[in-house]
Amino acid sequence: MTHVCRNCKRTFSTELELDLHRDTCEEASQLVCRECGEMVSERRATRDGWHYRCPNDDCSGSGLGEDLHHTGDFSVATSSLQ
Ligand SMILES: [Zn+2]
Ligand SMILES: [Zn+2]
Repeated sequence: MTHVCRNCKRTFSTELELDLHRDTCEEASQLVCRECGEMVSERRATRDGWHYRCPNDDCSGSGLGEDLHHTGDFSVATSSLQ
């Protein structure tokens, strides 16, 4: 069984390798917070991949698609998802 990084599509043979890679993946998703206008990495904005919150202490931004948006949502007009 292979584990695929959903950001850069690299494959790893173990989940541990994938976990280690995701900390340093250069293709990791960037989010932009509408509340404070700062760019934050997806990993810092969520712990479980479900609940999103702006990591800035003095910012109350939360919710993917609400206050937090993928930077790609701004620059890409048409979906390139397969
Ligand atoms: Zn990756
Ligand atoms: Zn914010």
